[in-house]
Amino acid sequence: MPTAPPRMATAAVYEAPNTPFVLKQFPLRPVRRDEVLVRVSMSTICRSDIHSYEGRRPNPCPGILGHEIIGVIAAIGEDIERDMRGDSLKIGDRITWSEYFFEGQCYYREVHDMPQKCQGLRKYGHDLAAEDPHFLGGFAEYCYILPGTWILKLPPDLSDEEATPLNCGVATMAAVTEAAAISLGDNVVIQGLGLLGLYGAAMAKARGARCVIGLDAVPSRLKVASKFGVDHAIDISCGGAQSVVTQIRTALPA
Ligand SMILES: [Zn+2]
Repeated sequence: MPTAPPRMATAAVYEAPNTPFVLKQFPLRPVRRDEVLVRVSMSTICRSDIHSYEGRRPNPCPGILGHEIIGVIAAIGEDIERDMRGDSLKIGDRITWSEYFFEGQCYYREVHDMPQKCQGLRKYGHDLAAEDPHFLGGFAEYCYILPGTWILKLPPDLSDEEATPLNCGVATMAAVTEAAAISLGDNVVIQGLGLLGLYGAAMAKARGARCVIGLDAVPSRLKVASKFGVDHAIDISCGGAQSVVTQIRTALPA
């Protein structure tokens, strides 16, 4: 059970692209009735955090990066009783939450079931650290969870390392493999064996894919691909497009 939150906490603040983070303290205030305060246990460095850091993606400064975050509830508002699946929530529970939040009605959510496209949407790891409640990113000791966020209590059999990428990388590829309707006996080609591609390979296999072919040009990625269910890892750095097509056709089961 965590102790009561302190009055101040530390964040690694992103002040400008390509400059070192600066450790800064901000006040922690009591949660409002529809908020949760989380003591951050782990946050990944997602590729989009690197894009923000390198200045290739607009991100408010000063800000706190990190949006694949898990943590333990340190304080919980009286209106928050259950997570998105109906499990009860209390101080001390280990949770993950959606990387974006949006309050109110929205055309994209109500009509297209795409809440992630709502106008005015805000994202954890993409907000100003200078303004209340300061802590809205993973590279900090605490993070506030604001209204319009989906919260999920984590089962104890998932390690922190397994659970932390769930809300971005894993969720992305769960959506992709569902949209692709991969099913028993399918053959699947995945272009790019970064983290998303590797998750996709594992999920394709879990959905019953017969043969998963992965394409990449990075030797270290090609090397680990088989651990994630890739049956044939094809190096696209040598030979042209036609050569890749021929290698895919050759790799496909008869
Ligand atoms: Zn991400």
